Amino acid sequence: MSSKEQHSFQAEVGQLLDIVTHSIYTDREIFVRELVSNAADALEKLRHTQLTEKEIFDADLPLEINIQTDEEKHTITLQDYGIGMTQEELVENLGTIAHSGSKAFMEALRKNQEGEKAGLIGQFGVGFYSAFMVADSVTVHTHSYKPEGTHLTWTSDGKTGYTIEESSCERRGAKIVLQLKEDAYEFATESRIEGILKRYSSFVPFPVNLNGKKVNTVQAIWMRNKNEITEEEYTEFYKYQANAFDEPLLTLHFSADAPLTINALLFTPKENMERFGFGRMEPGVALYCKKVLIDPNPKELLPEWLRFLKGVIDSADLPLSLSRETMQDSELLRKISKVITGRYIKHLSETASKDPEAYNKFYETFHVMLKEGVTTDYANREKLAKLLRYESSLTEAKKQTGFEDYLGRMGEKQESIYYIYGKSREAIENTPHLEAFKARNIEVIYLTEAIDEFVMTHLGEFEGKKLVSVDAADLDLDDVSADGAGEALGSKELKSLCSWMKQTLGEAKVSKVEASKRLVDSPVIALNTDKMYTPAMRQMMKAMQQDIPAQPAVALEVNAKHPLIKQLAALSEKDGETAALIAEQIYDNALISAGYMEDARNSVPRIYKLLEKLCR
Ligand code: ADP
Repeated sequence: MSSKEQHSFQAEVGQLLDIVTHSIYTDREIFVRELVSNAADALEKLRHTQLTEKEIFDADLPLEINIQTDEEKHTITLQDYGIGMTQEELVENLGTIAHSGSKAFMEALRKNQEGEKAGLIGQFGVGFYSAFMVADSVTVHTHSYKPEGTHLTWTSDGKTGYTIEESSCERRGAKIVLQLKEDAYEFATESRIEGILKRYSSFVPFPVNLNGKKVNTVQAIWMRNKNEITEEEYTEFYKYQANAFDEPLLTLHFSADAPLTINALLFTPKENMERFGFGRMEPGVALYCKKVLIDPNPKELLPEWLRFLKGVIDSADLPLSLSRETMQDSELLRKISKVITGRYIKHLSETASKDPEAYNKFYETFHVMLKEGVTTDYANREKLAKLLRYESSLTEAKKQTGFEDYLGRMGEKQESIYYIYGKSREAIENTPHLEAFKARNIEVIYLTEAIDEFVMTHLGEFEGKKLVSVDAADLDLDDVSADGAGEALGSKELKSLCSWMKQTLGEAKVSKVEASKRLVDSPVIALNTDKMYTPAMRQMMKAMQQDIPAQPAVALEVNAKHPLIKQLAALSEKDGETAALIAEQIYDNALISAGYMEDARNSVPRIYKLLEKLCR
């Protein structure tokens, strides 16, 4: 290439720049952090390349970042001796949306209202393009580490596009010059930039020099003794490392010598971005070996359910040359993962007992992740089960309890842990399914999200006690007895009523009809017979627009002491037609109170018919 080449931005970059340049965004200073972090990345990449490549352009340059401010020319210049860029890389990196932060930003933008755009810039950081918040024109001088590379100059006003031309040789890396907008002249002042660097870039692992003076103390906070570190330092590091704007919810800093030498600093954020519909999070715990970055977000290191964690794991036992390909099958990494996951789970259970309020906050935000862990992380399933929290028939509304506490309250004779699924506490408390348990004083765990039932099925048991749904048709509650009041229907009449009902309703609706041992107040109860497609599972599949098999027949239990049942027995002998209508309606009502009703179309006309009969 000899002359100046004119390029246009990819359409999406154009849109992004339009927002960036026109937003009245108060935190414009974050551009410093974005550019310094790019420079640090470029240096980190160079450090890595040095391990494998023999020939590196300008090999003897120090790994540092130099920043110059010029109040007369209204410029700020950021230079690094990092990896640099070739012509293709310039086009790819500074002309398209390659970077995950700006991609997420564009995604969020599509979903958001006009007014919130400026806020989004702060949330995501738009990387290199943030320079255009403060600059009229940006020039990038660069030379790749590759010996055959040339020196190139990229220039843009952030509007029409950019030019690239070959220029006289400078040094390896990138030098970015920002010609500041008039309302951004403050960023050419040394004291202003020094303040910003102190705030955002104290943890950059390379020297940062401002007008020739070093401004950061290069330190790996995770290697220091935790007694010497203040809350503020942790928070600053978290902000830097996780690209966050608030404090972490929980901090875990520990070191271990056996079986591996590990120093880890793990942060639990305050927010779970997946809850806001931002798609699946990328793992956020970086892997270091003796303070040298190996991988900023290793994919296979920790179990998937821990993808919300941020921070650093440093192990002196790791080989520096560990590549992403060899990472997957490294025994060493499996050991690291085991140690870290175990330690983090312990930290959560300690938090739960020492600081329940913090744990509740954590649980509210990340319970879905824990539940994902229960169903996918076999090795830690039982420990994770101890961390689950639910409301129950013995808790107040909105207060939660765990399985361990449940076991502590359970009667000696009780063999299982019982749960019930329903849309809300109120809905659950109105089902006949609870009657037997109330009468017997047995605690029932309330599940209000369809995924919870899936979790219970996966878990199967807790400390040797089976987890049982109260709507299971084969439930045996004989070990404790309930005393219902009133005279029951004679056993002969009851038997014939049951077989009459079964015949009248038909096999598609009921698999069996029998006398109930569990009902106290309600006349009937519908029980689930399908262990695979449970009612909660059917709802979940329906919500996901999957095909579901026809609604299975239920087991119907009747309350022999209930007046309606007693009178129905008599009516079925005298007026079969009316009795049949009533039986159908009883069946529908049972489905409704159980929360099983999927198609109520026939119910209303039938009720009218019955009302008509009543009015006669
Ligand atoms: P991000 O840094 O998050 O990937 P940016 O938009 O800030 O996103 O930068 C896009 C890409 O440009 C980077 O991924 C990197 O490849 C390249 N880049 C930016 N700054 C530099 C630099 N100082 N040295 C080398 N490459 C850089």
